[in-house]
Amino acid sequence: MSSILCPYCEAENIEGTDECQACGAALTDLSRRIPASSVEADLLRDRIERLWPKSPSTVAPDAPVGDVLKKMVDEGIGCVMVVDKGELVGIFSERDALMKLNTDAPKLLNHPISQFMTPGPVTLETNDKIAYALHKMNLGGYRHIPILFQGKLAGVISIRDILRYLTERIAAG
Ligand SMILES: [Zn+2]
Repeated sequence: MSSILCPYCEAENIEGTDECQACGAALTDLSRRIPASSVEADLLRDRIERLWPKSPSTVAPDAPVGDVLKKMVDEGIGCVMVVDKGELVGIFSERDALMKLNTDAPKLLNHPISQFMTPGPVTLETNDKIAYALHKMNLGGYRHIPILFQGKLAGVISIRDILRYLTERIAAG
């Protein structure tokens, strides 16, 4: 039986499968057709390292909410990584601030950020494809994804990074 590689995550799938068994991307059309545009081809070829993932801002799980919010504002960042003893345990984003703190924020400033972070976030590796990152963001509704290099937290990418990449590719024609 022949197999095809998923163009998104590079997992091996049995020929004729409609959906990648590893990442759920639709394979029927993708595996057979030529990418519709050069930008699409770029997305399926380039890897996350090409986005130059930003160094992540990190906080400890017991960091008070007030300190974390101040850090996000001061550094102009949309999310922080929550790291415990060198391990990524969660992510706290503007979205979490809006959804979980909202107007209660002033009362919660001394609470540990671990109460409001999203634990066990989805991560990607620097050598995953940009198309795969887009697929993950789309599927999970994520705006930020932590990036690992050899299993260790190395950076973070945002939807904005991908949009910047796309805009550059479109301009390059
Ligand atoms: Zn896949």
